Order: sequence, then C-alpha cells, then structure tokens
Amino acid sequence: MSTTGRLTILYVVSSPHSGSTVLSTILGNHPDVFFAGELYEIPEPAWIPGVTCSCGLPAATCPFWQPVRARFEQKANVEALHRDEGTFRNWKSLPRVLLSRKSGSGEFAQYAGRLGALVRALADQSGKRVVVDTSKGATRGRAYLALRSREVDVKILHVVRDGRGVVLSRKNREARVPGPSGGYRPAAALRYSVLWVGANLAYVLLFGLRREQYLRLRLEDVTRDPDRAFERIGQFLGLDVSQLRSQVRAGATFPVGHVIAGNRLRLTGQVRMQPELSDTRDQLPPGDRRLFSIVAGWTARLFGYS
Ligand SMILES: [Zn+2]
Repeated sequence: MSTTGRLTILYVVSSPHSGSTVLSTILGNHPDVFFAGELYEIPEPAWIPGVTCSCGLPAATCPFWQPVRARFEQKANVEALHRDEGTFRNWKSLPRVLLSRKSGSGEFAQYAGRLGALVRALADQSGKRVVVDTSKGATRGRAYLALRSREVDVKILHVVRDGRGVVLSRKNREARVPGPSGGYRPAAALRYSVLWVGANLAYVLLFGLRREQYLRLRLEDVTRDPDRAFERIGQFLGLDVSQLRSQVRAGATFPVGHVIAGNRLRLTGQVRMQPELSDTRDQLPPGDRRLFSIVAGWTARLFGYS
C-alpha cells in the first residue's frame, strides 16, 4: 500500500502525564490516521530482536514493522537516526538548533531528513495520510517543521493538562518506582511545577504563532466535552471525525495497534477516554498546591485554569 496526496505529520507536544497518549491512540483509530507512539524511541525497539509489539508479536516478525524497516532503510540509515536521537532529543539541543537555523545546520537538516524517511515509511506501510508522533521534544518539532513542503504538511497539537493534576500524577509515578531515583521526594512538587511552566510556555513560544499549524487543547476540555474537542481536531487536520466522536461519546474502548515504543499504555492493548483525569487536581496536598500556585499560578491562568 502507498499513500498518494499530501502527508500530514501531527506532532503532539505536552508536559508528561497530560493524556496525550490516550488522545493520540483514539485518533489513531481513524481510518486516515496512524499512531505508533513516541517515535524518538523507534530506532531501538524496531531494529532489535526481542522487543514485543503491542500486536503481541516480536518486532522482528511483526508483519507491520518488518516492511517499515525495509522501507526506511531504502532511504536512510538507522544507526545515523539513532545517533541523531541522542544528539537532538534533549531540550538542551534546542538553543543550538534555534541559533544555527539561519545558517542551515547540516547535521540538523540531515536529522530532519531521516525523520521524514521514518514518517514516510510509516505512512506508506499503513496506507494512511496522517502520522502522529507524541515524542514531545521541542527540537523534534522544529525538525518536522523544516520538512514542510508541497508533499508534507506539519501540524502541532499542544495538549495542556491542569498542572496540579500533572504534579500529582508525576509524584505518584515517582513514588511507585523503587530504588534511589524513586520514592517520595518533597522537592518533587517544585521540580514538576517548574517543568510544567517551562515546557508549556516553550511550546507556545516555539509553535503558538503558527495559526494554521498550531492547535492548543486543554485535556479537561477534551474529557468534559469530547464531542467539541474532536470536532476541533477534525477541522484542524481536515478529517471527518464523526465516527470517532460518536464512539467516544458512547464510552468506547479503542485498540492500540502496532505500537512498539513509548507510554506503557501501549501494552494494555486498549484505551478509553478517562473523564476522571480532570478531577485529580483536587487531590494534590495543600502544601503542594500552594507551591504550584506560587511557581505556576500565572501560567495556569494564562491557560484558563482558576
Ligand atoms: Zn505489530
């Protein structure tokens, strides 16, 4: 199968624990949309025997990933992409990319080209015209934007979740991890509040001025009124999402597909819209709430949170 017409890369950015995987998995059930998770991880699991795809088969023999690897390798080198991910994945690479933009950094342009080859392989193999990536890194978003052409469109979906829910969710996650990096740490609320502000403001500054290419949605608006939220996403991508909307409205569960990297949700096999995600902010302890309010209150108000 091969796609004709313009390919759209939907790059989803958000602070971690903001519900972007659930949203993208649901979108991936649209007949024109392919979702494979956080693509920055792909070079490793897709090319290493032993990793299990969410379809239940090893990546080495999965009928989807086998041909994707072949298609990619016709155009690019996987070791080089893996190396690029090491160089550009971290936010620390962003200033260098922004400063070198005008002079056209060769290394960065090559990285963008390899990302293009990967996305094209996924689109051609799936036969779908929209490919979703939830990698979140800002540098990667800039690389995708560099790929815009008559053949490729790039859209940025910025998902914002109430920072109090994010801080609680990340602290809870940390508390479940055993060993020196896990357990409860009082400073975690401060750290996660700062990260929430930094990431969301960076996305607005880097992508928010591109009116045609940027859509910001609050997770709470998606969970409270999924009908309206999916309508907006459909308009943004030029897709008829009426079928998805009625499924979400009916509380349907959605299968995950051939995801081999990223969020642990992929291993559960299916997802559904979780209205309860909107209510967790009230469970954040009062001390943490005060801290969040001091550090992030003004940013939260900017996004419409009281
Ligand atoms: Zn598979």
